[in-house]
Amino acid sequence: MSEEVIIPSTAKWAIDLNWLKATGRSFSILARDTLCAKCRKKLKADSLEVKSTELLKTIQKCCSKSDNFITPGLPFQETIFRVILANGNKPITLAELGEALRQRPGIDVYRTSVIFLSRLMQDDVYYGIKCIPA
Ligand SMILES: [Zn+2]
Repeated sequence: MSEEVIIPSTAKWAIDLNWLKATGRSFSILARDTLCAKCRKKLKADSLEVKSTELLKTIQKCCSKSDNFITPGLPFQETIFRVILANGNKPITLAELGEALRQRPGIDVYRTSVIFLSRLMQDDVYYGIKCIPA
């Protein structure tokens, strides 16, 4: 566990594409699994590296509206990643994130609290969800 840092409630979070790149991860690969079947085919996401701007736009406009975008069986960090994608990766506060999570089916309310989310997200070393300094 990393040392706990107190994060102000006004702090906003987003997927840090540069951080992902710097750690050798591909946003394109992480995000393409969230595409609906139609967009996956349209963007040729299985054979091409799709631009992150293109992915974000497509997911926000189309795929995130599908009932299968967030399902109760998904790992919780993946769910958070998807909620941020559905928001077009616009920086979001933890309170807003919790609110967005509560609108999805099958989410345990305890896990939508700011305290829980803050702890979970500080430990994220996979999706590159980072606190954006105000
Ligand atoms: Zn789609």
